[in-house]
Amino acid sequence: MEFKKCSRCGNFYLSEGDICPKCNPKENCEISTFKSYIEENGISNSLENIAGATGISLKNLNRFLNFQEFENLKEQINNSDIINNQENNGIIFH
Ligand SMILES: [Zn+2]
Repeated sequence: MEFKKCSRCGNFYLSEGDICPKCNPKENCEISTFKSYIEENGISNSLENIAGATGISLKNLNRFLNFQEFENLKEQINNSDIINNQENNGIIFH
């Protein structure tokens, strides 16, 4: 057995997964909130907007996007962020 560091609270714990037993219920709750947000609104908003709408921190959203089940979403978010940045900077060439 080895100690692991919880990705949410930073406490050390002894069990499976990236999250300590104390954070587990909150983690699962936020993941299902995130999923239902995506189902209703798609992924066209920036992570900042999603964080504001769901109450999930940017740090946790970024962590969720590294999960295998959200891999496709991550690509879509990155692409739309890139497009938004280009529009904001006025550097889109047609
Ligand atoms: Zn924790």
